[in-house]
Amino acid sequence: MITITILGNNSALPAHGRLPSSQIVAIRDQHFMVDCGEGTQMQLQKLGMGWGKIEHIFISHLHGDHYFGLIGLVTSMNLLNRALPLNIYGPPELEQILQIQLSIGGGTLNYPLFFHPVANAGEHRILLDTPYYSVSCFPVMHRIPCHGFKFTAKSTGRKIIPEACREYGIPRYFYARLKEGMDYIRKDGEVIRNEWVTAAPQPEPTYAYCADTVFTDSFIPYIQGCHTIYHETTYLKKDEDKAMLRFHSTTHQAAATACSAGAARLLIGHYSSRYEHISEFEAEAKEIFSNTIATQSGDVFTIRYEDVAPPQGI
Ligand SMILES: [Zn+2]
Ligand SMILES: [Zn+2]
Repeated sequence: MITITILGNNSALPAHGRLPSSQIVAIRDQHFMVDCGEGTQMQLQKLGMGWGKIEHIFISHLHGDHYFGLIGLVTSMNLLNRALPLNIYGPPELEQILQIQLSIGGGTLNYPLFFHPVANAGEHRILLDTPYYSVSCFPVMHRIPCHGFKFTAKSTGRKIIPEACREYGIPRYFYARLKEGMDYIRKDGEVIRNEWVTAAPQPEPTYAYCADTVFTDSFIPYIQGCHTIYHETTYLKKDEDKAMLRFHSTTHQAAATACSAGAARLLIGHYSSRYEHISEFEAEAKEIFSNTIATQSGDVFTIRYEDVAPPQGI
């Protein structure tokens, strides 16, 4: 299962009670932070979410509304005696920015901080890959280099059918191999075929955070088939010219991207502070893509294994 918690969803300025971009994406007991705008720490406190489970922070680009909260979070972790390593992924210059901020403050961190640069030329690659999840980055098109991030909660292999296993007398220690697809050979030589005692693997929930981007189909191949995508809607459709000029997107454009990507659900945010109310955003996007939700701070969304259609051909 993937759980997405919206901490901040406004564009450049904090306004109308909305804070700049930040989210927590949780898979199993791992909490990933995606962008860290000003006010992120306060939001974590307000929502009762600690940062103890955050080992990886992904920063999409170096506009302040996506990382001005980072140095505060990094130093608060130090003040509160964090020992767990922290990994930060982002544009190469972010490492220098953090080093300057930390060194001028005169403090050294008591916990290990590892920086992983994401190339400014725009790259698509896997940043993290474990048996339980993977995270990749993909380039979007913005005024400065910018990347989105795709999260996958991996299937843990074929699904054991306990009754069938008991019937065929398969010992429990062999279950791990059954999940990998192996047949079981009994002592008398009889082969128990894997498909008799297991079911197809569960489909994998996927989530793509598309960061700040102008309307483009250039990154569709990287997010194709994702169950849920978060796409910025800085502007309503009447302000499409402004969106183009500033390398942002409108409601209709985000919805068109969700259609092209074959998504099941669209989450929108990164609203311009020129709009006090956001109800129109959802209504407009729904004209093109019905399963759209205009996110609010504190919203929580889940993508369960059962929400995802089984892969074809299995
Ligand atoms: Zn932004
Ligand atoms: Zn930006």
